[in-house]
Amino acid sequence: MDQKQLHQQAAQDPEAFWGAAAKDIRWIREPTQVLDRAADQHTSPGWRWFPDGQLNTCANCVDRHVDEGHGDRTALIWDSTVAQAQRRMTYAQLLVEVNHAAHMLREEGLRKGDAVIIYMPMIPEAVVAMLACARLGAVHSVVFGGFAPAELAKRITDCAPTFIIAANCGREPKREINYLALLRTAIAQSGLTPKKKIYYFRPFGPTDLQPGEASWDELIQNHLAGRASVTVAPEPMAASDPLYLLYTSGSTGVPKGVVREHGPNAVQLRWTMQHVFGMRPGDVFFAASDIGWVVGHSFIVYGPLLSGLTTVLFEGKPTYPNAGVFWRIVRDYGVHTLYTAPTALRAVKREDPEGELIPQNAMPTLRNIFLVGERTDPDTILHFQDRLQIPLRDTFWQTETGSIVASSMAMPAGQTATTPIPGVAGLPVPGWDVVVLDETTGQPYPRPTTPGATTPVGNLAVRTPLPPGAFPTLWRNHAGYMASYFKKFPGFYDLSDAGIMDADGRISVLARTDDLINTAGHRLSTGGMEEIVAGHPAIAECAVVGIRDELKGEVPICFAVFKRVTPTAPTAPGSTAAAATDGDEEAVRVALQKKVRAEMGAFACFTHVYFVHNLPKTRSGKVLRRTLRAICNGQAYQIPPTIEDDHVLVEIETLVRRHN
Ligand code: ATP
Ligand code: MG
Repeated sequence: MDQKQLHQQAAQDPEAFWGAAAKDIRWIREPTQVLDRAADQHTSPGWRWFPDGQLNTCANCVDRHVDEGHGDRTALIWDSTVAQAQRRMTYAQLLVEVNHAAHMLREEGLRKGDAVIIYMPMIPEAVVAMLACARLGAVHSVVFGGFAPAELAKRITDCAPTFIIAANCGREPKREINYLALLRTAIAQSGLTPKKKIYYFRPFGPTDLQPGEASWDELIQNHLAGRASVTVAPEPMAASDPLYLLYTSGSTGVPKGVVREHGPNAVQLRWTMQHVFGMRPGDVFFAASDIGWVVGHSFIVYGPLLSGLTTVLFEGKPTYPNAGVFWRIVRDYGVHTLYTAPTALRAVKREDPEGELIPQNAMPTLRNIFLVGERTDPDTILHFQDRLQIPLRDTFWQTETGSIVASSMAMPAGQTATTPIPGVAGLPVPGWDVVVLDETTGQPYPRPTTPGATTPVGNLAVRTPLPPGAFPTLWRNHAGYMASYFKKFPGFYDLSDAGIMDADGRISVLARTDDLINTAGHRLSTGGMEEIVAGHPAIAECAVVGIRDELKGEVPICFAVFKRVTPTAPTAPGSTAAAATDGDEEAVRVALQKKVRAEMGAFACFTHVYFVHNLPKTRSGKVLRRTLRAICNGQAYQIPPTIEDDHVLVEIETLVRRHN
């Protein structure tokens, strides 16, 4: 069996395909129907998976493995380079902690259907809090730790939580972040009064409690009332009951409150771990992301635990204390699969350009590296593939989809893995009927028949119904859900990304539809141009955006970051790239313009290349092209609230103003 055959099976008979996958889940009541294709459009997209099934996600993540005799298996390994601490927890230990937390939350008054904001860093208690909510049927909404008050307040207002669970602080290499101060300001701004505010106190950070606030540990101890342990029966949940609510990254504007259901999510993630990632029982999975993002929900917490794997929870940065930290973790814990973002690998490559920190022959367990978040330039892929001698596999998906839409699947043992092609996201994953739409007609471009040919660049979309695990609605905004995602192209889910399909059916994601450049009648993908620039040996990363041009409509302009020349070279405070001289800049600028002209055509050549120390990014590591575009066009813009470091914009504004 290979990916194409599996995809065909799922397309021909989705009921049989996902019905079989659902057998891997422990149901309280087995679903008698797999897919209801005529569900109420006022509360669903018009279909519903496993409509009469009942289960509890937490019981599938924890109790089940203990019951099946795997209580001694490590469920979670916590490694914090910033707090200099490590901890291992078996499934049996996790079950005890989740029971205690769920008991405490229930005694404090939390009920099925209540919303809970979790505002915590990458610590085991965050996972315990998520699972305890799931056990009680409360809907958690994890907000990325360290979000500034205004952002946190917006999410509190939209989510209207009954409880807030937080940690007292987050930790960065050189400082602590006082979460309590941020949170108190945010609650005041939100205008809401959550019933309970419960804080986990780390061994460092602020220690004060104000009226109406309580300590997580103290409450647990109080409710145990001297007993060694308590158990809480997992709440029976309808398959379509909400498990969590999670806001999108907000790269393109206001974050959207994506809702995920218990049943379809559990079926999809267990299937995905096995088929897309090729994970086997007992394997160690290391998703170097954050629980505040969907990657953390699906692939730090739920996917690995539903599958009885060991998940690594990493609190730290990919280049701290040095760019070898990922490899150290892989070696120490026998990691089989690393899942990370291209921005992290580019940072590692920038700090360790020769790959000297990659240990040779010391990571025998590592089978694959998977990537997500943005397009990865082939240069970065080849850099690691050559040195590690394992495949790097792109995965394309969204918060909304909950699981992977296109990838080169690793497949279960004994089946044929798909060979990845650098720069190409991959074949559609079974269940996802991906098409490239002609925006003017709303119809799919036919798949080319000649090998090597591709469709024109179009709007990526998926024929409905979407497979299990995709979002059934937006939190308290079903009308917005239908209008934003299903209206423009009837019969399709609009991914709002632009891409092409090749004769084999492989998808390449080129840009967000908003980021395509229209120059003199040509539709240019910023992704393709960035790939060419990133291929230059002096360039660490880059972003291409379109700026207004009277003659051509739009012309591309490039922002590029030099690779670190030597680790000891003097750098400006706060910068991570070595300063290049003006002479270097001019030479590389000319070289880049030549390269684009040669590899893409003269029409694609950018009018200017700015060399900057850093690109503006969201906290989840995505380049803020829309902001770059506004600066270059001299438009008024708002600093994106999800920006990682707004100082980066100062350098860019200065350079652009000086050039104009
Ligand atoms: P918002 O929707 O709030 O603007 P966002 O789209 O960045 O934010 P996410 O759901 O975290 O929020 O990101 C999904 C998007 O990330 C995709 O639509 C796509 O643009 C991009 N993306 C994710 N993975 C890949 C990939 N492998 N290749 C190219 N682009 C990717
Ligand atoms: Mg999006």
